[in-house]
Amino acid sequence: MSSKMQPVRGTRDLIGADARRHHHVAETARHTAGLYGFEEWFTPIFEDTGVFARGLGDTSDVVSKEMYSFEDRGGDSITLRPEGTAGVCRALVSNGLTQTLPQKVFYAGPMFRYERPQKGRYRQFHQIGIEVLGAAEPLADAEVIACGWQILNRLGVADGVVLEINTLGDDASRDAYRAALVEHFSAQADKLSHDSKLRLEKNPQRILDSKDEGDRAIVATAPTIDAYLTPEAAAFFEAVQKYLTQFGVPFRRNPRIVRGLDYYSHTAFEFVTDRLGAQGTVMGGGRYNGLVEEMGGPATPSVGWAAGMERLSLLMEVVGNNPQPPRPVAVIPQGDAAETPALALIQKLRQAGITAEIGYRGNLKRRMERANRQNARAALFVDEAGAIQLKDLDSGEQRAVSEDAAVAALGG
Ligand code: ATP
Ligand code: MG
Repeated sequence: MSSKMQPVRGTRDLIGADARRHHHVAETARHTAGLYGFEEWFTPIFEDTGVFARGLGDTSDVVSKEMYSFEDRGGDSITLRPEGTAGVCRALVSNGLTQTLPQKVFYAGPMFRYERPQKGRYRQFHQIGIEVLGAAEPLADAEVIACGWQILNRLGVADGVVLEINTLGDDASRDAYRAALVEHFSAQADKLSHDSKLRLEKNPQRILDSKDEGDRAIVATAPTIDAYLTPEAAAFFEAVQKYLTQFGVPFRRNPRIVRGLDYYSHTAFEFVTDRLGAQGTVMGGGRYNGLVEEMGGPATPSVGWAAGMERLSLLMEVVGNNPQPPRPVAVIPQGDAAETPALALIQKLRQAGITAEIGYRGNLKRRMERANRQNARAALFVDEAGAIQLKDLDSGEQRAVSEDAAVAALGG
């Protein structure tokens, strides 16, 4: 029986243009986050299941339906991380960093959710994200958002992406709003989806986030939080908006944003686009004040976001931003005896930071074909005496050069 090996459903190989865009997203985000003072952390890809079950809240879709959990050989329940924030907060506590705040963290890497795969939605996907851990000030919220906005701009995908912001209020606002939502949804409980009936008991605010068509009609007439905000919560939200304006970040209010995870309060935001069909959220985040406590640390007010790298990459493709690999210089030995001087030359080029390729075999014609396939910018012909001809493959110009002159001419 023959069986073709295929990637697991919902996973993909990133090769060629896909890999280059993916890499570019990570590098651009890492560099931009660095400009804002964020430092990269690398936390494990799997954690004790409790880190996510406690951290994300058991009414979240992620915990209730999407986690990749398994028992390892020692009998411990392990989960492949579905998101980055819980692990970062766990790491803050495990590493005794809760007294040295704020910590400004950047991360990038694979995440795992058991979802129905479709364009822009995978079972192994990748996120970039930032967190400011230990800052209660609204300036932190605005800075985090401004950093995200700058990343979208640098990726060339900000056109057609809109920042939508909301406030979830503080505990007192939330309790009052919750009562109003329970009243609204209870009156039409029989028309709610099965999931939303459960949310009505555990976390009615999550109904606002429902993707069910029937629910959406009932959500449309639900009260917004504005009338229930305490003066402090309202002032906080005002301040975030003032700072966003000062940072030059355009935004609009969307009172329906609650975010998929249970741990948010105050600011919630999403960068959304209509260029990716149903998977329109490219970046989402907000303020969370209880998560570090869930991990056994002290109360640590925090704010952050995560963005799906696949969706950013798709947007880059849509706008035609496709990074090209560097054009190499082709080193071409003329005859077997020319290999020795050619190898000495190619190492000089690489040590000078110049991308250079040498074919492993083949006559001059074959090697030139290969150089053209690789879109080489220049060829260096080397003879057995070590004499070098430099040919610019765009202009066709050719001249004799020394090793040092070749390196200098090619930008080393
Ligand atoms: P959605 O509503 O699309 O399911 P979410 O609320 O579950 O999103 P978050 O948990 O906030 O998403 O994750 C942040 C970002 O990660 C999303 O905005 C999206 O860009 C990306 N993302 C989430 N799940 C997936 C997935 N299964 N495949 C690809 N990207 C994803
Ligand atoms: Mg989701």
